[in-house]
Amino acid sequence: MDTSFIKKLVNIVGTEYVSDRKDVLLTYSASASIGYDRVYPGAVVRPANAEEVSLILKLANEHKVPVTPRSGGSSLQGEVIPKEGGLVIDLLRLDNITFFEDLRSIRAGAGVTFGTLDKYLKKYDSWIPVYPDSSLICTVAGNVAVNGAGPGSGVQGCMAELVLGLEVVLPNGEIIQTGTEANPYAPGPFLRYAFGPDLTGLFIGSLGSLGIITAVSLKVHKRMNHYYYQTYGFDTAAGAENFLSELRHNDVSVPLAAIYEGRILDFFLDMLGEEYGVPQTEWPAFTVSATIGRIRKDQLESDKKMAIQICEELGGRIVNVPELPQGEWEDRMWTFLRSSYVHGWWWMMLYHHQTPTNWHRTVEEIWEVMDKYGIIGHTAGFLTGDSSYNFYPQLYFDPEDPEEEQKVRAAHKELSRRLFKTGAVPFKLAAYWVEGVEEMVPYLNFIRRLKETIDPNNIMNPGVLGGI
Ligand SMILES: Cc1cc2nc3c(=O)[nH]c(=O)nc-3n(C[C@H](O)[C@H](O)[C@H](O)COP(=O)(O)OP(=O)(O)OC[C@H]3O[C@@H](n4cnc5c(N)ncnc54)[C@H](O)[C@@H]3O)c2cc1C
Repeated sequence: MDTSFIKKLVNIVGTEYVSDRKDVLLTYSASASIGYDRVYPGAVVRPANAEEVSLILKLANEHKVPVTPRSGGSSLQGEVIPKEGGLVIDLLRLDNITFFEDLRSIRAGAGVTFGTLDKYLKKYDSWIPVYPDSSLICTVAGNVAVNGAGPGSGVQGCMAELVLGLEVVLPNGEIIQTGTEANPYAPGPFLRYAFGPDLTGLFIGSLGSLGIITAVSLKVHKRMNHYYYQTYGFDTAAGAENFLSELRHNDVSVPLAAIYEGRILDFFLDMLGEEYGVPQTEWPAFTVSATIGRIRKDQLESDKKMAIQICEELGGRIVNVPELPQGEWEDRMWTFLRSSYVHGWWWMMLYHHQTPTNWHRTVEEIWEVMDKYGIIGHTAGFLTGDSSYNFYPQLYFDPEDPEEEQKVRAAHKELSRRLFKTGAVPFKLAAYWVEGVEEMVPYLNFIRRLKETIDPNNIMNPGVLGGI
């Protein structure tokens, strides 16, 4: 990278926080995304606050250097892999937390992870009720930038539902604040839709392509301290799907709930090994694994009764393996992703949302595509709101086998198109979904024009949001 550019970066943040050393750049050339090649940036810079971010973006614009904002680097679809010779802006130094106890809200710097925030809020018997499995490394801002989800989403929906406002540095270096905090006299974050259109929403799920989020303001909830773990069995997919739907329709508080086919559950549990303590079970054709969580015990008792009643009304039965949902709720990071990390498999993933009652459509498409291409894979998922279920199908390949890799890449493209036709929507509009959404021409054109307006030099994470 141009030495004069590096010198200017040093002038902004100091020598300690700029590097173009190869061993340092190695770290930034990859992420948790498996199946993506490394790309070396030209330099990395680690600003301390929004003002430094602003100066860096002005400079990048002047030099037309592509920029990749990076927080935890835990994203899985290649969206934080830099451009060759570009600039990575690492935001982990922005780690302030301000709790507005009376407003039940919090403001967290872009570098604050869910794990840190959870520890902080625990002292107040409070939490952010969406807790991604990657919480010890994934930042709140990074998760807002992808509109992530996680355990908790069964009740609260995706991250977007919890956001009250954002501080964003636009590509030209201007700093804006959305939500109530746009008024400097406001006591803090208490309402997102404060000044006309939802500008907060513009940056949620924007994958670092429209600006850099330097602070996130979120709703805070009282912690759920009472849980009931149970598994429910159904002979048909419709029974399991309707069960999930009816739970939420009746306001049963299920922060984490998932449907499994019996055959896939055997496969998962086999991979996990015995330490989970899930007993050998004759699984029904479809199992729902659900955690009910409530603040008060009497609420939990009432929800528990309601869940059992709904299950019976739908012709289901209690399987009585609480170890499965409990393991998922308390230690989910080790579950399904671990299989691939441990075994050294690579994968192509196709995160998406489907309605709970359309759950079988996704599963059918995945099996058909795997059979057609002769590849292996699986899918798991969880409830992400009253009418939304998040799937993360993984198609595996051996990185040493180029033929198999090509097959998986072709299968992945076909699957995205087929899923789109079932009514599924991408979890993130990252490049891995572009084939699936290609019919949405007016929508994609609008995003393109929006990006051109906000970022005329296309410096912000080019090619990432919908491939634009
Ligand atoms: C084991 C494991 C489990 C996971 N479980 C979940 C889960 O349950 N739920 C879930 O949602 N995800 C999950 N993920 C994926 C990942 O953790 C999320 O995508 C996460 O939100 C990424 O956050 P990050 O801070 O690591 O962001 P990064 O990976 O650094 O960046 C993600 C994207 O956001 C952009 N970005 C980062 N910071 C900013 C910023 N401050 N301003 C603007 N743009 C920015 C980047 O350019 C990139 O496009 C998991 C990943 C792993 C490895």
